[in-house]
Amino acid sequence: MLLYYLFSGRFWLFEELRLSIMRRRLKQSDLDILESRFPYFARLSNKHKREFCRKLEEILTIKTFIGRGGVQAVSQEMEVLIGATIVMVTFGWQRVRLPHFKKILIYPNAYYSTISKTYHKGEVNPRHGIIVVSWEAFLEGLENQKDGLNLGIHEIAHALKLENQIRNNSESDFFNPQAYRDFHSFCASEIRKISSDIPGFFRKEGALNEHEFFAVALENFFERPHQFFQYNSKLYGTLVQLLRQDPRVWIKEIA
Ligand SMILES: [Zn+2]
Repeated sequence: MLLYYLFSGRFWLFEELRLSIMRRRLKQSDLDILESRFPYFARLSNKHKREFCRKLEEILTIKTFIGRGGVQAVSQEMEVLIGATIVMVTFGWQRVRLPHFKKILIYPNAYYSTISKTYHKGEVNPRHGIIVVSWEAFLEGLENQKDGLNLGIHEIAHALKLENQIRNNSESDFFNPQAYRDFHSFCASEIRKISSDIPGFFRKEGALNEHEFFAVALENFFERPHQFFQYNSKLYGTLVQLLRQDPRVWIKEIA
């Protein structure tokens, strides 16, 4: 227990030190990318934009972005857009930065996983503290903002759920326990609905298990909040409580 406190305290101190000494300041060109390519940011009020930028600077300072499999150099666009997706998903908390996941690996497109022996577009590896994305699939998810399919949100949702459970760092148990229980109470029936062949609201991948359902639910929460609310307002409400934000505020119209 003592070791845990010493370790988490040291970790927190190191992160704060890094943020004050080596903070990655946003440039005008970063803001241009956010305004033109990241609709969630473009819709925010000026006050919330400032808050978003503060968080994005923190994320870009503490995460390491690494190109793999043909991505020779990580571009500014990659860093800003992937970082912005982390900020969006965690925007309900001032200090949630997913510290367990220090590295973001970026492949140009689908990559072969030697562990599962299949091609992947993205994954989260808690053992190594990494989030992996295919840039091609990430952009596809970002370009169509209304189909409830977004690889970046999906992978970061997995990382968020894991970070809430991981205890050897400065963050854990940030989910409201009641909201989390409420969300769980919907999982089994929603998974049953997806598994039946009747066309429904969520895509098939959500039926694999509760982790996949959570990730798919978050893709829809951010991309199709009004439709999600119409489909099941109580389930949508549990996610508003859990993520401490309601994307219907930003996305006013129903597509
Ligand atoms: Zn998944």
